[in-house]
Amino acid sequence: MSYNLDENLRRSAMNYPNSIACIYEDKSVTYHELNKQVEGLAAGLFAQGIKKGDGVALILGNSPEFVIAYYGILRLGAYVVPINPMFTKGEINYILHNSQAKAVISQVSVEHKLKDIRDQLENLKLVIYTDAEDHESTWKQLIETNNNNYENPFINEENLAVILYTSGTTGKPKGAMLTHKNLASNADAISKLIELNDKDRVVAVLPMFHVFCMTICLNAPIACGATVLIMPKFSPLQLVSTIRERKVTVFAGVPTMYNFLYQFPDSTAEDFLSIRVCISGGASIPVELLQKFENKFNVFILEGYGLSETAPLVAINPLKGIRKPGSIGLNIPGVKTKVVNEEGKQLPRGVVGELVVQGPNVMKGYLGMLEATSSALIDGWVYTGDLATVDEDGYIYIVDRKKDIIIIGGYNVYPREVEEVLFQHPAVVEAAVIGIPDGEYGEKVKAFIAVKDEQISENDIIQFCQERLVKYKLPNQVEFLRELPKNSTGKILRRELRQLIEVKL
Ligand code: AMP
Repeated sequence: MSYNLDENLRRSAMNYPNSIACIYEDKSVTYHELNKQVEGLAAGLFAQGIKKGDGVALILGNSPEFVIAYYGILRLGAYVVPINPMFTKGEINYILHNSQAKAVISQVSVEHKLKDIRDQLENLKLVIYTDAEDHESTWKQLIETNNNNYENPFINEENLAVILYTSGTTGKPKGAMLTHKNLASNADAISKLIELNDKDRVVAVLPMFHVFCMTICLNAPIACGATVLIMPKFSPLQLVSTIRERKVTVFAGVPTMYNFLYQFPDSTAEDFLSIRVCISGGASIPVELLQKFENKFNVFILEGYGLSETAPLVAINPLKGIRKPGSIGLNIPGVKTKVVNEEGKQLPRGVVGELVVQGPNVMKGYLGMLEATSSALIDGWVYTGDLATVDEDGYIYIVDRKKDIIIIGGYNVYPREVEEVLFQHPAVVEAAVIGIPDGEYGEKVKAFIAVKDEQISENDIIQFCQERLVKYKLPNQVEFLRELPKNSTGKILRRELRQLIEVKL
């Protein structure tokens, strides 16, 4: 079997022409219509000089245009460079340069940023705004292109499909090169694991420019002929009413979303009646939250784990069979993992080490960054930078990010362990723990929390932890924030928490 994202859409258009592919607000588009617009866009881009092997940046929020553009670029044999429309012009400039994008498909709200940087981008030949009428080549004309001379190129599964810029912990963002095989094999694996089919309705509320949404809420449902419910942004009220009214069957979200939904006062189990499966990923979901959510809404959550470099899914708890709270589950079919020490030697089960991954989902490398590629990809294994252990049944537990470990007088403290305890406190809504310098022990633990009960004091929290944690793991300081800083996918930004401290020092 050869993996090809475009082929997946064509197959669904052939098998389910009249089924609804996407719903956005009160508009819907069938598979037949979507396929036609994708064909139009591919021919239109070709007429504008874009061809197989070129890069096209997509700077769009969640919208039907994102879906049409994404598949149109792929059909042309070009590669997609998704970019968060909220990025600054400096960030956009860097990615457009680095990815050598020949064209940009974007929205008018990004126009002022692109205008300022356009002169610096030699490769860039074409800029299209999907929501403007009077530009060099309007969107509508493009998707209605009917060019009989245009022939779709042959796409090999090893062809580049998407370059994803991962925030990167140090230095500049890196462009992870993902092929059709990387992405389509991952979509295929998750579809089988959650038994996705053409009757499913998957809500896409995570940002489509992030790989979690791209694979689970777009590539997988499109390959199965399911319906994608596109939501432009996360709001608990809108999400709950979409789930109820549109009878959503699959919801994929990050832990922050589960937290907001859980806290949302007006939601009940009845709103979630149509839900068949919930998936959590992107960061670890606190066990306390997972269990409270499952009980309140009478659903179950499959926690999974992945990263941009693995398109993204590596492991997930099974739909049928044992789910272990706190674990990211089992390797998905075709993907192998190992836990290794600093020398890359495999460690026995139960011992903490770095998780490394091998499989059809592993990226080709980082574009133009040989050094970064050779330190992330060693003998075909991608080094995740995450610390993990595996239990006797093969279930994997992410202990923490390697770089987030706090070392106190020679003892390792994993922030996650302290955060799990903080989450058990009934007043705590959000929590994150970092290490701060300490003259005596090297580092000490500092907790940042958001609470719903303003009467709670620092001492109450420390005392609560004292009953549950050994002394050296206790937070020395607890700072109350109204909300913790998060990125566009809802991950808590420890970097910003560290900056908060630097400002004060
Ligand atoms: P990204 O490349 O932006 O998708 O980020 C990938 C990183 O997210 C991984 O390396 C992990 O650190 C983190 N991550 C994703 N899923 C989980 C999970 N279920 N538990 C813990 N960390 C996770």
